[in-house]
Amino acid sequence: MIDLYSDTQTRPSAEMRAAMAAAEVGDEQLGEDPTAKRLCARVAGMFGKEAAVFLPSGTMCNLISVAVVCQPGSMIITSALSHLLGSECGGLAAVAGAFPRIVPCQRGIYTGEDVRRVAGTRKKRNTPVPAMIWVEQTVNRGGGVPWTLAQLADVTSAAAEYGLHRHMDGARVLNAAAALSASPQAIAAGFDSVWLDLTKGLGCPVGAVLAGSADFIERAWIWKQRLGGAWRQSGMLAAAGLYALDHNAARMAEDHVNAALLASEIRAIPGCKLMHEPVATNLVFFDVQGTGLSADDVARGLRDKNVRIGVEGATSLRAVTHIELTREAVLEASAALRAVVSGR
Ligand SMILES: *Cc1c(COP(=O)(O)O)cnc(C)c1O
Repeated sequence: MIDLYSDTQTRPSAEMRAAMAAAEVGDEQLGEDPTAKRLCARVAGMFGKEAAVFLPSGTMCNLISVAVVCQPGSMIITSALSHLLGSECGGLAAVAGAFPRIVPCQRGIYTGEDVRRVAGTRKKRNTPVPAMIWVEQTVNRGGGVPWTLAQLADVTSAAAEYGLHRHMDGARVLNAAAALSASPQAIAAGFDSVWLDLTKGLGCPVGAVLAGSADFIERAWIWKQRLGGAWRQSGMLAAAGLYALDHNAARMAEDHVNAALLASEIRAIPGCKLMHEPVATNLVFFDVQGTGLSADDVARGLRDKNVRIGVEGATSLRAVTHIELTREAVLEASAALRAVVSGR
């Protein structure tokens, strides 16, 4: 099957499995797993931060960051498209008592002016207290668009004026790095916390790594423990992450070339319309209203042709390129989509 459903639909390669099997391990909770420690040091260094902690998922990186920073009633400045609001079961409110302030913006990218407009509101006794700004890199539901370094500097400097914590949801930060030809360190420079998902473009089976100051990570560790995310011999999982950083990080631009190819194929199919232009990274959102079919119809038709895709809305779909998809697979999927849409 050609699986365009998500970049999470990858399986560890034989080489990655070998690295996992060979990993040196110890009790991570006691600070004795050498491989987990190596992964954390590697990611902290990559982002130019003091420390990092290995966590089960990106969702937990986000939740713990909120829990460390926010009090009940704290306000988080974010866009309506953020994964925090759409796909994390309201953890910000359920666990930390925080709530979002949604900034209207295009493709999930807001500005320093937007931050000032919210945080600079004249203080009255009833004014909510902003605690952090939320930046998703790349913006998933914005079509995988990366914030540029200038856009990042603009919001982080505005947030600093008001003493706000600056958090980056870096689920696809390495996709952004490839698309912008910028280092993860440059991308993360203005941020107090930033994390990297191992299970997206890097192709690992489990895990994410959250980085920040030594003090922030110390407090994050309390939450890791509290939420049941403290591990024992996690070095076997960390070894996959180290393997991926060595072998899979540099190839991410290939996924972007494949996504651009898919986008150009979709653009040429009558009735299909790309929802975000340009397609900058590995996510391709498109609408099929013009075909007279529903998104479910299209997904079902593709499934019959051994292609899996994500349904977003009544007539919208998402296709994602990743390490297991070749150029040939993308062309095959495009041909299948053309056939489904034309009723063949
Ligand atoms: C996938 C994703 C997450 C959550 O990561 P998990 O590892 O699946 O918990 C958070 N934010 C964004 C933008 C994502 O795409």
